[in-house]
Amino acid sequence: MAFDSTGKQKLIEHMRAIVGAEAVLGAETNLDAYAIDRRRYYHGKPIAVVKPGSTAEVAAVVRKCAETGTAIVPQGGNTGLVGGATPDESGNELILNLSRMNRIRALDIANNTLTAEAGCILAVLQQAARDNDRLFPLSLAAEGSCEIGGNLSTNAGGTGVLHYGNTRELALGLEVVLPSGEIWDGLRGLRKNNTGYDLKHLFIGAEGTLGVITAAVLKLFPMPTGRATAIVAIDSARTAVELLARVQAYCGERVTGFEFFSQFCVDLVTRHYPACQSPFTVRFPHYVLVELSDSRPDAEVQALLEETLGRAIEQDLVRDVAMAMSAGQSRQFWALRENISEAQAAEGRNIKHDVSVPISGIAEFIHAADAAVERVFPGVRLVTFGHIGDGNLHYNISPPTDMPGDAFLDRAAEVNAVVHDIVARFNGSISAEHGLGKLKREEITRYKSALELDMMRRVKAALDPAGIMNPGKVL
Ligand SMILES: Cc1cc2nc3c(=O)[nH]c(=O)nc-3n(C[C@H](O)[C@H](O)[C@H](O)COP(=O)(O)OP(=O)(O)OC[C@H]3O[C@@H](n4cnc5c(N)ncnc54)[C@H](O)[C@@H]3O)c2cc1C
Repeated sequence: MAFDSTGKQKLIEHMRAIVGAEAVLGAETNLDAYAIDRRRYYHGKPIAVVKPGSTAEVAAVVRKCAETGTAIVPQGGNTGLVGGATPDESGNELILNLSRMNRIRALDIANNTLTAEAGCILAVLQQAARDNDRLFPLSLAAEGSCEIGGNLSTNAGGTGVLHYGNTRELALGLEVVLPSGEIWDGLRGLRKNNTGYDLKHLFIGAEGTLGVITAAVLKLFPMPTGRATAIVAIDSARTAVELLARVQAYCGERVTGFEFFSQFCVDLVTRHYPACQSPFTVRFPHYVLVELSDSRPDAEVQALLEETLGRAIEQDLVRDVAMAMSAGQSRQFWALRENISEAQAAEGRNIKHDVSVPISGIAEFIHAADAAVERVFPGVRLVTFGHIGDGNLHYNISPPTDMPGDAFLDRAAEVNAVVHDIVARFNGSISAEHGLGKLKREEITRYKSALELDMMRRVKAALDPAGIMNPGKVL
């Protein structure tokens, strides 16, 4: 609904009455941190930013919005990469920021669960688990600022998916405020519950289009006592896939990290983050970071990884290995991998693709995509890295050195079509972990069947008939 300035002022007064004056940020405040997305693609114009402190306040805000037909944009840490948490430029959408809802409501150690409000920062939850000798395994480079509500709403992936699964697999129960303002209390800590549709899965990965997640029951795991990390130099993506199979065959479920990156990724990181250095003095085409975790002591896990990689060297699969000899060195290895995305951003504008294909097809996919992209855009710089153990690649492209970043971005649709058509040929997904948001809302219509899109629209219409929840995102 379009508001005039009196209507907006009245709505803001209502919001202040619900959440308190200091928790409503209006035009008098610089709202850039909320209104501009992380990649600075989208510059929204919200009516205001409303920060409720409890589920009851969220419900009251949503009820008022339903009554007035006001569009709501739920927001967590605003680290999403597809513009999902950014309002449009109409000046008629309200940002509902969950950051004040940051309490851990319960820790049930015997049940291995933690109940947290949506605004809890991911790193805080990881620490809370560690303090109780447990592991909350969701881990991604934005963990210091992204929030669990955002992680659930995007079904975030990250570096632990290979062993522990996506955020969806880590959630046992949810509390959700529906677009009507009703509160659904589904905060159950059950690992078995076959009592009809598992409704929580509708809201996980829905990017705020079906309701507002206010709290969740999350799975915890025993804290591994032993870890071993290595960076392994290899020739190609094909070798990475072969190595993954060998490492899994020798080490089984202990493989908790298997990340792929190229020499060019290392060059970018070492240029923009000089504290990060390659462990090798020689350059190799590609690398994988391998991590094992176990309940056995460090030395045993280290010995297993050394033996496994030693065999791979004998079999001529691996060119060189750098083993982390301390927890500090392991962190340095991870920093080399985790700073790639930010280093590419520091290098200038780029076009990102967050894609997945079956692991068996990943080497052929890279080969086909590289050839097609080079043919259409000669001289581009390919920054290919990612969670290869999950079949998920960040297939990112920087412009040729002599092309201005903005001119390259103007051609994003062409670049995307080249890459995504090849993804489709390999039966893959054009959004493996970041979601659709605003960025891929149109693009997805080229790759999902009409029936699949129609089923999604029917679910949306059933839960949010007035279309007030995050309009213009996903669908
Ligand atoms: C450096 C960097 C590295 C990253 N690495 C990864 C990675 O490895 N894997 C990965 O999956 N992602 C990654 N991301 C993307 C991003 O961090 C994740 O998508 C994260 O889960 C978003 O959390 P957030 O709290 O910032 O959500 P936001 O950006 O605030 O919101 C994301 C979406 O969720 C909705 N939303 C937020 N909170 C709620 C709520 N409580 N209820 C309903 N809807 C809500 C928003 O409307 C929006 O659509 C990375 C981002 C950066 C900047």
